Amino acid sequence: AAIETTGNQRTVVKLSETCVFGGKQVPVIAGPCSVEGEQEIMEAARQVKASGAHALRGGAFKPRTNPYAFQGFGEDGLKMLAAAREETGLPIVTEVLTPSDVELVSEYADCLQIGTRNSQNFKLLEACGKQPKPVLYKRGMSMTIDEYLQAAEYILAEGNPNVILCERGIRTFEDHTRNTLSLSAVPELQTRSHLPIIIDPSHGTGHARLVPSMAKAAVAAGADGLAIEVHQDPKHAMTDGAQSITPDQMDGLMVNLQRVAEAV
Ligand code: PEP
Ligand code: MN
Repeated sequence: AAIETTGNQRTVVKLSETCVFGGKQVPVIAGPCSVEGEQEIMEAARQVKASGAHALRGGAFKPRTNPYAFQGFGEDGLKMLAAAREETGLPIVTEVLTPSDVELVSEYADCLQIGTRNSQNFKLLEACGKQPKPVLYKRGMSMTIDEYLQAAEYILAEGNPNVILCERGIRTFEDHTRNTLSLSAVPELQTRSHLPIIIDPSHGTGHARLVPSMAKAAVAAGADGLAIEVHQDPKHAMTDGAQSITPDQMDGLMVNLQRVAEAV
């Protein structure tokens, strides 16, 4: 059960030999918000790998606020991600929007992401619980910690123990950030659950300039990993450019994260 903390046994979730959540390592999942094309995702994969990231992210199915906005490349996007994995060896993390797509996404991805907007789509949680790949399950933007852990149980109850929790910011009155990043969720969830908990400082702030500080703070707080949006040309990103850091910034951040990890 997600909620119980019987003993000190932590769940360890492995995306690859070199990307393990819930142990000593603090893996970083990095890449663009959306898969934007074959060349684009390949280049992004090379860059985040060179920075030292442990997994590649990129959305092929995008949960957009506006139905006329870019919705992602779907299965073609999954194929582009698989090609990027083939070349770089990085495991891939990508979002699944609906139960009917779970089987398809599971064929390509190393880890299925459930987004904040689907956090209480219990049928999707169950479907992800029935397939064998690990699940990156993001907190709902208006979910309490208690609701979050109860919902995570929908995945575990179907027999999939490999769940990574992710705090990605919640809605508050404050509007200088896109969301309010609740860093205290890290120690709180580690007390209440055995599941690894990672931080997404990109959606958590909405501003690239705030991402490095929050990423470092997350590691200092004991986070089990990070998910960071990186884009070659943030100004022209198809989605979430404002919160995407550049490959150069990613290089510098990875060095500093290493220093913080050694200090805590
Ligand atoms: C994303 O990771 O690009 C995404 C849509 O995240 P969230 O569900 O946290 O908004
Ligand atoms: Mn995004």
